[in-house]
Amino acid sequence: MSQEINEADCSEALHRVFEYLDGELPDSERGKIAAHLAHCAACLQQYDIDTMVKGMVKRSCAQESAPAHLRGLIVQRITAVEIRYVD
Ligand SMILES: [Zn+2]
Repeated sequence: MSQEINEADCSEALHRVFEYLDGELPDSERGKIAAHLAHCAACLQQYDIDTMVKGMVKRSCAQESAPAHLRGLIVQRITAVEIRYVD
């Protein structure tokens, strides 16, 4: 076994999993986290959990929004305000 995994790598990987998921890391950092995940089962498991949680949040948020109705309402109000100002 010549794989070099230490606790510092794990804590760094775990701290940055969300940034990694959100694509907020620079390429060099992304590569580091990706390489760590490829070798570390414990962090990969955490990554899977975070991915799942993020997916669930995204799905439930998508259900919360009512784009067409809300959009219509907002446009209606903006238009009403504009008409008042124009008058
Ligand atoms: Zn790890």
